[in-house]
Amino acid sequence: MFINSHLATGYLLHRLKVFEKKWLILWLIAAVIPDIDGLWSKSVVEHHSILHTPSIWIVICGFGWLVGFLRKDENIKTFFVILFIGSNVHLFTDYITARTVGIKWMYPMNNTDYYLFPIKPENGNIPIWEMIVDPYITFYVENKILTGIELLFNFLAIILYLFYANKSN
Ligand SMILES: [Zn+2]
Repeated sequence: MFINSHLATGYLLHRLKVFEKKWLILWLIAAVIPDIDGLWSKSVVEHHSILHTPSIWIVICGFGWLVGFLRKDENIKTFFVILFIGSNVHLFTDYITARTVGIKWMYPMNNTDYYLFPIKPENGNIPIWEMIVDPYITFYVENKILTGIELLFNFLAIILYLFYANKSN
């Protein structure tokens, strides 16, 4: 999934209004953060590091939440709950929309890569920035269902943003 779509997902999660609006920025960060491994990856197909596995977020967020619990600090607890939900929704949407690399749900127990539609890892042997140009982009939009879902997320987020831009909440 593209970064703008992850940002849109984060915004939509924020709009569910489970937590106060002060957490908006964290929702956006949490929905995108697994993709920072793209900064040090040589190719699209290699960019799924440990940050694209649930185990790392279970450890980080579990530890962080426990600190908040022991210190009786609701803000710390909420911070790590949002980080956990956002990062795992990222993994789930990457799993649904996988084109060249899936998600290792069971890592480190096993190394199996999971994806919904058949993937073509050979098409991911390109630098990350080449994702937005041909031939990758043409390959990416070949799956009309997934492309439609991704566009819908972006569209919904923009509509909601514009709707709430004129309101105080
Ligand atoms: Zn990702």
